[in-house]
Amino acid sequence: MISLDLITRTDDLRAPVISRSDVLVVGGGPAGVAAAVTAARSGVSVTLLERYSALGGLASGGMVLVLDDMVNGPEITVTGIVSEYIDRLKRLGLAVDPPEEDRYASTETWNRWGRYGLFDFHSHVTPKPICYAAAFDPDGWKRVSNDLVREAGVNVRLHSWFSRPIVDNGVIKGVICETKSGPQAFLADVVIDTTGDIDVASRAGASYVQDNYLTTLVFRLGGIDTDAAEKFEQENPAEARALNRKIKRMLGGAWELWWLKTPVPGVVWCNAPHLTGFNGLDPEDMTNAEFLARDRIMETVDFVRENLPGFSGAYVLDVAQQMGVRQTRLLEGEYVMTKEDVTTRRHFADSVARGRDYYYPYRSLLPREVDGLLVAGRHYSATPEAQKSSREIPPCMAMGQAVGVAAALAVDAGIRVRDVNPTDIQAGMHRHGADPGDIPSANATIDAETAVLS
Ligand SMILES: Cc1cc2nc3c(=O)[nH]c(=O)nc-3n(C[C@H](O)[C@H](O)[C@H](O)COP(=O)(O)OP(=O)(O)OC[C@H]3O[C@@H](n4cnc5c(N)ncnc54)[C@H](O)[C@@H]3O)c2cc1C
Repeated sequence: MISLDLITRTDDLRAPVISRSDVLVVGGGPAGVAAAVTAARSGVSVTLLERYSALGGLASGGMVLVLDDMVNGPEITVTGIVSEYIDRLKRLGLAVDPPEEDRYASTETWNRWGRYGLFDFHSHVTPKPICYAAAFDPDGWKRVSNDLVREAGVNVRLHSWFSRPIVDNGVIKGVICETKSGPQAFLADVVIDTTGDIDVASRAGASYVQDNYLTTLVFRLGGIDTDAAEKFEQENPAEARALNRKIKRMLGGAWELWWLKTPVPGVVWCNAPHLTGFNGLDPEDMTNAEFLARDRIMETVDFVRENLPGFSGAYVLDVAQQMGVRQTRLLEGEYVMTKEDVTTRRHFADSVARGRDYYYPYRSLLPREVDGLLVAGRHYSATPEAQKSSREIPPCMAMGQAVGVAAALAVDAGIRVRDVNPTDIQAGMHRHGADPGDIPSANATIDAETAVLS
């Protein structure tokens, strides 16, 4: 760790101060863009740093192409900036979602939308009900992200890899990035860590736990006759099941539907191959995972071309530039969400964001040991088991909006982020069209300890 003085005064470090802003967001994925845009729309100056060449994180570079986990039965629970993305992507012809009349309807509507992956994947009914969800295009996600940050006036720096926090007496003052021009420093009153692996918070001294879950190198195939493929499945279910079982074994792991339709005709995305036991923070592990996954993809493509109806013209359109890492370091913040909190839909008085049917307390976005720092996204403060079922893209964006609101409130009032009143964040979320989950739904459990928090 280095002190602020060293950055600004020591030539040896060669880390010129590039910007001073009210709020600095590190990591331009779904949570980071949501945080940056929301803070900027709240009237504070914002800088957003991203290591790669485009915004979007796993939603673009990772080619994770379905927005789900936004409903509690027919109730839409995740709103705000994710709804803006869906609207804008649809206007570009780069997203599809089932109209209201097709949700929770018949097998016929399942046949229309099921192969896009737009169903309630937590349901135990067969087939799983079609619900509010959206399938989108990864380049479209980048375009919409660019439009949103530009319109909000966010100062964006791509190709900037966070390497060190600047911490002074337990308070974060900014960060240093590695770039092709050498190290560069960025200072701010509030720093938001949205790297997905709490790169900033962990290096600044915040507690965390580390685990791993499935790792997946997503790929897309072009040249697919999806009508022929679906017809084959519907007319020959037993044969199709046997063939798909064989393909999934070849991939070495995949969900029930290993290929899904996209808004682009003839293009499907494959949320596979799943790999286990790889540490997403270890370059050696990740190198081995990249090689292994590509071997499996090529073997599978050769096989489906020969054997799977609709796939004879298949070619690899692209393999995700970013390995699909679901879990690494998780913050151990002011509150650690448990699996029980998620499954019993525990509602907290300081709920500031909402997922499917669960709630995120503000304390789960606050590191214990460092001031001036907030986190949002898949590395939020949760046990590994809880995180597995509460880390989809839309809820990560809701967390991003909540910390964007909180950061702006802290800057405006000149107070520490941990002293921001959660009810003010809830009000801010409503102003931004987002649902903070301040009003518990009928099936929620009320947390006894925080029920009376003002
Ligand atoms: C294979 C796979 C399939 C999934 N399927 C779905 C699905 O169908 N639907 C769904 O909703 N969710 C799905 N998820 C979950 C979802 O994609 C993630 O949980 C979500 O994208 C997390 O968003 P985030 O912003 O927290 O992190 P990320 O998307 O990981 O974004 C983090 C950003 O920070 C940047 N960054 C990281 N480190 C640094 C650094 N040191 N310096 C600068 N920048 C940095 C990254 O480049 C990235 O842009 C899936 C995940 C995976 C891996």
